[in-house]
Amino acid sequence: MEGKERPVPVPTSITRRYWDSVNAEALAIPKCGDCGAVHFYPHALCPNCMSPNLGYVPVSGNGTIYSYTIIRSPQPAFKGMEPYAVVNVELDEGVRIMANVRTDDVEKVRIGVRVKMIYEQSTDDLKIPQFVLA
Ligand SMILES: [Zn+2]
Repeated sequence: MEGKERPVPVPTSITRRYWDSVNAEALAIPKCGDCGAVHFYPHALCPNCMSPNLGYVPVSGNGTIYSYTIIRSPQPAFKGMEPYAVVNVELDEGVRIMANVRTDDVEKVRIGVRVKMIYEQSTDDLKIPQFVLA
């Protein structure tokens, strides 16, 4: 990527319901109306049984760090944020979601640490999910 403009998510017909839940600060994830499996990220078809019968269910946004990395030498668009933590969090509802952990001390970020979701205003009309240490 060239330049310093920070990339932002662009909702699609498949992801719009998810981004609407983030903007409403009421996170919801896809759930299959046929087999009952929840999944993340949003797909057009259930990744478990290929059904197109998908709905959304609310989730807590609470979870446990499954894996992480500390960024100390960021891409130009993220200069000034370093060091920062990118984490893969296993939500209590059983899906994993990637985001940043907002903390003044990235050394506290470890596998197994509990986190909770916050919603950060990214653009005038789009929020993004982030985590803080619980
Ligand atoms: Zn299914």
